[in-house]
This record gives sequence, structure tokens and C-alpha cells, in this order.
Amino acid sequence: MTLPSDDFAYREGSLHAEGVSLTTLAEAVGTPAYVYSVAALRHRLDRYMVAFAGMDCLVAYAVKANGNLSVLSVLATAGAGADTVSEGEIHRALEAGISSDRIIFSGMGKTDAELAYALTLPGLQLNVESTPEYERLTALARARDVRPTVVIRVNPDVSAGGHAKIATGKSGDKFGVPVEEAMALYRRAQDEGAVRPVGLACHIGSQIRQVDPFGDAWRRLRQMTLALRAEGLSVDRLDLGGGLGVDYAGAGAGATPADLADLARRTVGDLVVKLAVEPGRSIVAEAGVLISRVIHVNARQDGPTFLVLDAGMNDLVRPALYDAWHDLAAINPRSGAPVAYDVVGPVCETGDTFARGRLMPPLQAGDLVAFGGAGAYAASMASEYNSRLPAAEVLVDGERWALVRPRPRLEEVLAREVRPDWI
Ligand SMILES: *Cc1c(COP(=O)(O)O)cnc(C)c1O
Repeated sequence: MTLPSDDFAYREGSLHAEGVSLTTLAEAVGTPAYVYSVAALRHRLDRYMVAFAGMDCLVAYAVKANGNLSVLSVLATAGAGADTVSEGEIHRALEAGISSDRIIFSGMGKTDAELAYALTLPGLQLNVESTPEYERLTALARARDVRPTVVIRVNPDVSAGGHAKIATGKSGDKFGVPVEEAMALYRRAQDEGAVRPVGLACHIGSQIRQVDPFGDAWRRLRQMTLALRAEGLSVDRLDLGGGLGVDYAGAGAGATPADLADLARRTVGDLVVKLAVEPGRSIVAEAGVLISRVIHVNARQDGPTFLVLDAGMNDLVRPALYDAWHDLAAINPRSGAPVAYDVVGPVCETGDTFARGRLMPPLQAGDLVAFGGAGAYAASMASEYNSRLPAAEVLVDGERWALVRPRPRLEEVLAREVRPDWI
């Protein structure tokens, strides 16, 4: 997302989240801090709800993009289910009020303990992502005398995704069951009867901005559905995955939820199946910013002018991990000719670089900046590297705001550790 946006706009020269001044928030909760807009969350979920209305489709928000309980509760109240990839995420979804029959459990390395937990939750959709996982699941289900609702995640062998590290749908990737093996596994699950195979799933990657790769994958699911039905097996559910990208750099319009819904109508609309989609990034990325204070400006004789921020790669790892671009705006821009900054954090790694040669209004120590597109894969991927405290999270709704995840105190962080008495 580029700043300003609809929900993060300037008022009298100062950047606000809806009706709340980011300067006021920075003073109240400290920096760095993530700030989320309720209006933006609702609006972005709504684009899916409206686009897929009338298609019997569960919009299962992918919790890993941002698992903050308040964010989840806003989305749950507005009609979202949840796509989860760990026991912890399932707990978060339930805590936010999403019932287990609206939760999908994905992930290619679920432990026995996680599968056993999932078996206790009525109606949960278990996405089986490999043959060995199927075998472990059937053993656990038999031992507990339950018959879970299972969908087989197919690897449709399509290339997609903004970066090699987030492409998941190509045959060499670790995700999903290859098409032929998935067909065999579906038949086997039906024969063995330990689980209830109800359908097929795919998820081909993330930050995908065109519809074509989705079309290739969904046509694959369609062919498989028809082939399985021709053998007399029932296929009642298709889980179409997530992965729609956002416009981090102002590159221009990409595919929208409405485009995806049209594509779904064209590719699988005639199959009479219950659908699910699993959007994460495209719901929350643009609903959040990361605010940070300038520690100082270091104009080096040998070249770059470093803008040193109090946010680091531990707060926003996407640039270090994926060479990702995040827009950066001065919260109270000063007048004057723009300056090209190398924007860095304080962490002791050269990888802790957010941008090089970024043109910004002139900035000084103590000034505030905001990273756009920081609602997804930012707080949820944060670490305490360099013993830096996790940043606070704030939710804004119109003129009101709340600290929804305070920054822990250093004593609390240290108190989690135990020293054996034999040292
Ligand atoms: C990560 C993930 C998603 C969400 O991806 P986005 O790119 O955030 O929309 C959906 N489904 C599965 C299985 C995932 O792993």
C-alpha cells in the first residue's frame, strides 16, 4: 500500500489512522508500534464477502497474516471464518469467536498432538497435505473413534507468487499432494473409511497479482472433481486457497476479489460444491502501518545518508527476507527538497535495511515515519532478535483507539527464562 490511503490520510499536514493522529499514538504508546484500522479491515473483508455472495463460499481469513485477537474479532464479527496452520492459530480463531465448523486446519507438518487436538473440534476441516500425514491422521482418528472431515490439498503444479520463498504450487515445492497421488489418496481415504474425504484444496502461493495462475490451479481442481465423480466418489467441497497480492509499491491495479469470484464462477461455478477461499494478506496488509521514530540521520562522507529508525528487521522482516518494498511516509512532513535516504534499523545485520536511496522529505532525529502495508506478515513474523521488545499493537476505529497488545516490559521477557541451579 502506498501512503496516504483512504484510511491513513493527512489531516492538517499530519498523518492519521482514520480520525486518530499517529503522532498522538506514538506519544501515547511509544515506537515502534503497529496501527490497524477497523474501517480498512472491514472494507477489505467485505470485498470478498460481496464478491462471493450467493456462491455458498466460506471466506476463511488466513490467521498467519496477522493473528492479533482484536483483528481476528473484527473480522469474525464481519463474517470471516479462519484458515489456520497451527494449534496456536486454532486457539486464536476460537478465542475470537469463530466456531470450529468455520475453521480450516492447513499446514504441511502438523504434529500428532496438533492432529489429535483438531480431532476434538466438531466440523473442523482438516486439509491433508501429504500421504504420510494421511496415514498418521487415520491412525489417530481410529484410536479415538472419530471420523474427521478431510480435504486433500493438491499441488496443481503451477508457478505463481511474488517471490520464490512464497511460491507453494509448483511440483518441487514442499506443499500439497501431486495430482495423480492425490487422486489415489482420495480413493484410498474413501475405501478405508477412517476419515470423511469431502473435497479438494489448493493454495499456490502469495502476493499473486494476476488471475491466470489461479485459473490454471482451479481448472485442475475441476478436472479432478469430474474424474473422481465419474468413479462414483462424491466431491462436495473445493477450497480455492488464498494468495491474492496487494499493491505495496504503487505499481498499479492488480486482480481483485471480484476478479477471483468471476474466475471461480467460470471455472468451478457449475460443480455444485461448497467453496472456501483463504485470503490473508489482501485483507490485512493495507489495514495496518508500522510507525517508527528517527533515531538519527547519519550523512556519511563516503556516500549514503542513513536514516536510522527505531524499528528494525525484527519488527518488519519482509524487506530482509523477500527484498520486499514497503512504502514509507513522513508522519509530519517538513517542507524542503526531498533527500535520498538509505533507511535502516538498529539491528546488527546489514540485512536490517528497509530501503536504499529512498526519496523522502527531509527528516531529523525524533521525527516520525510510517511504513505502509504493514498489517500482514509484520507483527505475526516479528521476533525479539537483539533482545528488542515486541512492538505494541493499536486498533483504531473512527475517533477511538485501544492498545490491543501492549509492549511487554523487559522484566516480563526475562522472567520467561529459567536458570538451572547447577550453573
Ligand atoms: C498463507 C496461506 C494462505 C494465505 O495467503 P495470503 O497470501 O496471505 O492470502 C492461505 N492458505 C494457506 C494454506 C496458506 O498457507
